[in-house]
Amino acid sequence: MRPEESAASTLRKRVVEAGLEQALRETVTKLFPEISEPFEGVSKVLCVQPHPDDCDLGAGGTLADLAGRGVEVVYLTMTDGSRGTTDPAMEQERLAEIRRREQEEAGRVIGVSRILWLGYPDTLLPYTPEVRERVLRVIREEKPDVVFAPDPWLMYEAHPDHRVTGLVASEAVMFSPLPLIAREVHPHVVAVVAYYYTARPNYFHDVSGTFNRKLEALSRHKSQFESVWPIVVEQLKVLAAAYGAVKGVEFAEAFRVLPFSLIHAVPLSEIV
Ligand SMILES: [Zn+2]
Repeated sequence: MRPEESAASTLRKRVVEAGLEQALRETVTKLFPEISEPFEGVSKVLCVQPHPDDCDLGAGGTLADLAGRGVEVVYLTMTDGSRGTTDPAMEQERLAEIRRREQEEAGRVIGVSRILWLGYPDTLLPYTPEVRERVLRVIREEKPDVVFAPDPWLMYEAHPDHRVTGLVASEAVMFSPLPLIAREVHPHVVAVVAYYYTARPNYFHDVSGTFNRKLEALSRHKSQFESVWPIVVEQLKVLAAAYGAVKGVEFAEAFRVLPFSLIHAVPLSEIV
């Protein structure tokens, strides 16, 4: 019997025993070890965020842990954050400046090497091929092994900047290996996309050692969190503790991790 026939017959057997979805999940997880170990051997990650605070909020513990282990962490901020306030007396230009400074301070706490800014106006990030190509160019210039992005398929995400950021980041990763797009920048293959703000996590990263650093970084975003700080801390703790319980650790952050081969035309990405 040829080995692939044997693998096929094993899978058939599992489908009968455990059902199609479970059997496929087991097979795909075996085929792609990076789903359970997405940061193994990684030397650089790029975290794409709609606003200056999302990487810290969605993945700060994990990014701080990676930075502490010598991984280069770069942020790409899509908008200027100039409308993220409930204070009618605030000026947009001033808020953009404040938030830029807050993000730079928070980035230092996390251990971020560099923060890049595309500067689109807050709440108005356009979903266009031009925006996607700007992200693609950053990916090709930075050459990250892993790209972090908000999960654009989070069902009840009402903020368009978050949906658009997740979509253009996914599309830029998808097109980055194609040399006929933006010819003057050399193609680059991103191994893994890690979606934060996801309702369907398939990977939990132990952040017990960096959870306080995440809180410290978030405390630098005074314009965003100062007035609701105790509630933010409580919510983050409850969530991180629940995710931690999945992994058997104190605190964890949750991601939906998809290897490059699973982000296009593969229905299996739904079940891993
Ligand atoms: Zn945001």
